[in-house]
Amino acid sequence: MQVRAALVREAGRLEVVPVALEPPRAGEVLVRIRAAGVCHSDLHTLRGELRARPPLVLGHEGAGVVEAVGPGVTRVAPGDPVVINWLPGCRTCEPCLRGEPNLCRRLEQTTFQGRLPDGSTRIRLEDGTAVGHYLGSATMAEYTVVPEEGVVPLLEGVPFEVGAILGCAVVTGVGAVFHTARMPPGQRAAVIGCGGVGLSALLGCLATGAHTVIAVDTVADKLALARRLGATHTVHAGQEDVVALLRHLTDGGPDYVFDSVGAATTIRQALEAVRPGGTATLIGLHAALDEVAIRPGVLIFQNKTLRGSFAGSMRPEVDLPMLQRIYLAGHLDLDALITRRYPLEEIAQAFADMEAGRLARGVLVME
Ligand SMILES: [Zn+2]
Ligand SMILES: [Zn+2]
Repeated sequence: MQVRAALVREAGRLEVVPVALEPPRAGEVLVRIRAAGVCHSDLHTLRGELRARPPLVLGHEGAGVVEAVGPGVTRVAPGDPVVINWLPGCRTCEPCLRGEPNLCRRLEQTTFQGRLPDGSTRIRLEDGTAVGHYLGSATMAEYTVVPEEGVVPLLEGVPFEVGAILGCAVVTGVGAVFHTARMPPGQRAAVIGCGGVGLSALLGCLATGAHTVIAVDTVADKLALARRLGATHTVHAGQEDVVALLRHLTDGGPDYVFDSVGAATTIRQALEAVRPGGTATLIGLHAALDEVAIRPGVLIFQNKTLRGSFAGSMRPEVDLPMLQRIYLAGHLDLDALITRRYPLEEIAQAFADMEAGRLARGVLVME
């Protein structure tokens, strides 16, 4: 079938055009995408800054309806509403078996290369060239094909738009708090960066029962949104001394700091500000390939922990339904994270708004 999709033909060149989508093979499902979240990693991939190479169709956050299933599919049927899971573990490698499917060994050769688990792709250009599914998902399209383990049920009462942001932004932020840092109740926390991931971490801190949650950003509008979501304090990083203020507001430093930016400056701020014995968790990818100077004495003499969190240490089949139930119970205000909706054709505008700091999360909505 021909489907309209956000295609990257070569690095830096984005167009919304029809591409050929093959039917699902054994163990795969065809999903009609209803909403797709817009993430920084899509933009980095468009620019050729991450591992996945063009040609590919962008998008890894999404929700929609199963339209057809290939032979042997048992977990979903046509008509089922689903959330796309871009981290489908193989369930047989050691990391999967020890409960860390976000570290699955198959991902390196499949998901991160823009391939399905069998190593191939279902998308083609007019001349027959294979087109990658970004992060094995390709959700910025009217339809996509993913493995059966690449979807989890969208629960009744959860809008497609909310389902669309669960799989990356929300699970990455909330999971960093719940799973990676395992933050106990009653803590003082700070979140650096108030985009979709940072605000999700903020919501995770609130859901955990933190009494102090400080939001840090350089954009006043984002700090205002953080306050509406429940931040107890805000720090304007462009105008105020972040480390000094975080220490002052928490009587010696937050117990937990979550850095959703991941730049050299914010990593150092997180580590410096967290209280002795506290934990700084890195979530953001901005300096992922850079070398960042830190003073080991801060870690050693002050017993601090600096750790990384990939995709919120998510176990998709457990976490994606759990997050929906917390949302349905009214303890995760995910509707407030969706700042703007766009038709698929306006993907370039969505990227521009995201870069300008105008969005918590933008969502592409397919009618
Ligand atoms: Zn595995
Ligand atoms: Zn993402």
